[in-house]
Amino acid sequence: METHFSKEQLKDINNKSSEKIFRKCVHCGFCNATCPTYNLLGDELDGPRGRIYLIKDMLENNKPASNKVVKHIDRCLSCYSCMTTCPSGVNYMHLIDHGRNHIEKTFKRPFVDRLIRNFLSLVMPHPVRFRILGILTLLVKPINFIFPKRLREMINLMPLNFPKKNLPKMKIYKSEKKKKPVARVALLAGCVQEVISPQINEATIRLLNRHGIDVVVPRGIDCCGSLNHHLGKSELAKKTFKKNILIWYDEYLKNGLDAIISNTSGCGTTLKDYGFIFRSDNDLKKKAKKVSELTKDISEYLDENIKLNFIKNKPNDREYKIAYHSACSMQHAQKIHDVPMNLIKKTGNQVFDIPEGHLCCGSAGTYNLLQSDIAKKLLDGKISNIKKIKPEFIATGNIGCITQIANGTKIPILHTVEIIDWYTGGPKPEILNKL
Ligand code: SF4
Ligand code: SF4
Repeated sequence: METHFSKEQLKDINNKSSEKIFRKCVHCGFCNATCPTYNLLGDELDGPRGRIYLIKDMLENNKPASNKVVKHIDRCLSCYSCMTTCPSGVNYMHLIDHGRNHIEKTFKRPFVDRLIRNFLSLVMPHPVRFRILGILTLLVKPINFIFPKRLREMINLMPLNFPKKNLPKMKIYKSEKKKKPVARVALLAGCVQEVISPQINEATIRLLNRHGIDVVVPRGIDCCGSLNHHLGKSELAKKTFKKNILIWYDEYLKNGLDAIISNTSGCGTTLKDYGFIFRSDNDLKKKAKKVSELTKDISEYLDENIKLNFIKNKPNDREYKIAYHSACSMQHAQKIHDVPMNLIKKTGNQVFDIPEGHLCCGSAGTYNLLQSDIAKKLLDGKISNIKKIKPEFIATGNIGCITQIANGTKIPILHTVEIIDWYTGGPKPEILNKL
């Protein structure tokens, strides 16, 4: 694709990077075929190619974002299915991030939109605030009919219960083995996940400890920053990124870290991008790059580093039929698809890919809160594809997808790590007790 940035504009590192990406695009439109919003809405501007043109026009001509641009960019899920399909290797993720930052700087959203987005940005990345919001939501749920539609939909999406934590909050969870630990890793405990599904971190810690690995959960790190990053609030996001990088790098230097584990693929994607985000920051670039290099999705880490002791044919249990939902951030952004599936297959159960598995479930961070109509249609499609498998439970590696899919079906849904923990000596996940 021809570009027309001036020399002056290309002095800006973000313009320079985006220009290189635009040049790779040959406007073939293959990406439209696998774009969920293009499939649903049928508008060229709701597909990746159209969005690339919108972003290019806005940046090249240094225009403030228009209502039209905002509408179509906001509808993008950041699912990156287009990146999997693109034969030219266009890094759409970096383009849409740049586009969103430009929108945030140059466009004044309507008052209600600003209010909602600021509220999400202020509450969701903070576990304590999110827990308080959860309690308040539970109280108002029975009378949610009095609220406007958008607020009502947001209330409906909040989980109904907040499981108790079973593990005490500690900085280091020591491996069970008497011998010297085989590795030392940091775990990103996360923000929303830590509140609504603490059992995922607990399964991760238990599993790693049982296999001789010390797990560090450094104080001061909750959110990875991706929530604000995808809202286009780059300054807030960068503050979180910077804090996380400094804490992890310090831990790496002082005590040694073999990996930084993410068990939420949406967050893992952002951590793996810290190096790119800080590429021109002389103070942070080396540290950010190291943090990105150390980051592994839990499935990736287990597959590459651990000989898992699977207990097949568990006494008093049977074989299950499992549908594996590959989160977009896992399959399209991190290019991890077969690894978690193969790990689950090692449990001796039947594991199936969901038909049209490349399509997003509609979760996409805060997307189901901000674009609820599209998200609902995507969820309906996902549920109908899941039902074709008739699974007894669903497995996935991202809390956003777990919450979204649970809103559309009563079929239990587990994190991959909960299954692996269970089949290597951990407890059976409570959610399965009714099966
Ligand atoms: S598939 Fe790739 S090269 Fe083709 S239009 Fe889409 S982004 Fe551009
Ligand atoms: S990220 Fe997803 S929704 Fe956005 S353009 Fe690409 S395929 Fe479409």
